[in-house]
Amino acid sequence: MDEYTIGVDVGGTKIAYGLFDSGSHLIDRYQEPSDASLSGEAFLDGIASSCRHLLDRHRVTEEQLRGIGIGVPSYVLYDEGMLVKTVSLPNLRNLRARDYLAGKFGHGVRILLDNDTNTAALAEYRHGAGRGSRHMLYCAVSTGIGNGLIIDGHLFRGAHGFAGEGGHMIITPGEGVKCGCGNVGCFMSYCSGLLIVKHIQNHIAAGEPTMMTDLAGGADNITCLTLAQAFDQGDAMATWAIDQMARYLAVWFYNLYVLLDIDCYVLGGGMLNLGDRLFPRVRELFDQYNDIELPVHFKQAELKNDFGIIGAADLLCQ
Ligand SMILES: [Zn+2]
Repeated sequence: MDEYTIGVDVGGTKIAYGLFDSGSHLIDRYQEPSDASLSGEAFLDGIASSCRHLLDRHRVTEEQLRGIGIGVPSYVLYDEGMLVKTVSLPNLRNLRARDYLAGKFGHGVRILLDNDTNTAALAEYRHGAGRGSRHMLYCAVSTGIGNGLIIDGHLFRGAHGFAGEGGHMIITPGEGVKCGCGNVGCFMSYCSGLLIVKHIQNHIAAGEPTMMTDLAGGADNITCLTLAQAFDQGDAMATWAIDQMARYLAVWFYNLYVLLDIDCYVLGGGMLNLGDRLFPRVRELFDQYNDIELPVHFKQAELKNDFGIIGAADLLCQ
């Protein structure tokens, strides 16, 4: 009998669904906006009915469905299938999502939920830049920074399921800008897209010159795209900001390297758009710290838009 799997990628603005056949081929996808105003239960009701819609479209019965894997941008208690907290969807909080969704399907349907950076790491490890490695650290640098840790071929979740929040490692206690987690001086506060812009705005407020204000049409409109444009035109503040990102990223990678001896680092997320402005410098600084000449690979994530649904479906293959 053919067996199917559904992968669901929940985001703050949209939810993507993929239906996969027994050979892990993506045979159909579906997308809808996510509605942050819904209660947690109503949000899950929507996911259940969209999954059913996808099954009906291909006349797949529940008996043929192996399971549903769901990646969420949340702190997830993996063993309990519980969403503890979700910054971009605040109503997904203290929610026993797995049990609730299981009640919407038959007994044979497995439902697994995990943090979306973990599912992205699984996807890159199995089908992307991490293929063939034994240990891998996935690092998504976008508005925030999240990680997924593969050790000996398995996703490492820690005691509760919260492993991989290395963006919140505090590196300058009490100094710098306040992170969304409430602490000041998190690693990501120097390197994430959202918070590097805050650093820039603080410098502008202190009266320092930059072309970024004019380029963006006001300090409030500055984005990472503005940063890249200003860097290319030799703007001193943009050069400083990207250099700061490179320095903190290199220190962070080196600290993880000496702790774990992971030899494959896969970088994903929107900040990849900074490309050669940032990453060769990270590598150069990393190599300055590291005087042992053994291979350590830094790679760009390979999977394009479907990595979220692919990794979510992969939860069923563990
Ligand atoms: Zn933080």
